[in-house]
Amino acid sequence: MVRGSSKWVAPFFLCLLLSLHKIQGQEESTTSRTPKQELGDAVEVHCSRERSRAAWKIIEEYLMPFVDKERYQLSRRCRLHPDNDLYRDQEQHKIRLDINEWQCGYCKKSFYEEKYLDKHFDNRHYNLLNVSHSRCLADVCGALHCDHVMDISLKTKCNPAAAARNHLLCESLADSCFPVNEGPSASRLHEFFLRQFCDAHTCKGNQKPFSRGRKKRMNIFYLIVSILTILLLLLFYTYMYLYQRGIKRGPQKLIRVSQSGRKKKPS
Ligand SMILES: [Zn+2]
Repeated sequence: MVRGSSKWVAPFFLCLLLSLHKIQGQEESTTSRTPKQELGDAVEVHCSRERSRAAWKIIEEYLMPFVDKERYQLSRRCRLHPDNDLYRDQEQHKIRLDINEWQCGYCKKSFYEEKYLDKHFDNRHYNLLNVSHSRCLADVCGALHCDHVMDISLKTKCNPAAAARNHLLCESLADSCFPVNEGPSASRLHEFFLRQFCDAHTCKGNQKPFSRGRKKRMNIFYLIVSILTILLLLLFYTYMYLYQRGIKRGPQKLIRVSQSGRKKKPS
């Protein structure tokens, strides 16, 4: 009897172990599925945060100073309007406390690197993304030359089809953001936009993007730096002049000091 039952014990335990393992696996898969499903809601936002950020940087540096100079107001129809950037609100809630300290403006949690704060936004605050009204700024990256700014190694061979597509997108941006029939400043900016962003979308020639330059504020920055440099140089030469004069006046004193110094050494 005992022998007979022991015969069945081993397979029974094996079955039990297998079924337990199966249940555990199911639990694992359900637990791993839940965050994935949660993330799935977040990932439904098919919009690259990095590329949106690059596009925003380009707009801020290479477009807005010129728009401000013309005192022109972008309409919400323009895809470059801040309201059309899905991530604008989150990006504005990034607080940089130190080189290695980033804080979430919503819940005050701190992170060592910006990428972890980005992940935190994706996981914890994705509900704050107004997907229904906002649009993805990364979608206009092709027109704005994001790869150029993001230091992505550009293919050596130019793709004429892609260049044509980007040129078309670029022109449509110029038309929607700066309609020529809206007055002289709009038409000036329209022209500027074509030269600054659209001309470089070609495989012919060696046109570079942002031909009209970047932030005007940089000029003020350079001015301040150059004034400071001149002041420092003036101070340096004045000091040198006074120092030289001091040497000329009292060389004997110096000799005496050095001689007395020498005499003392042997003792
Ligand atoms: Zn937070």
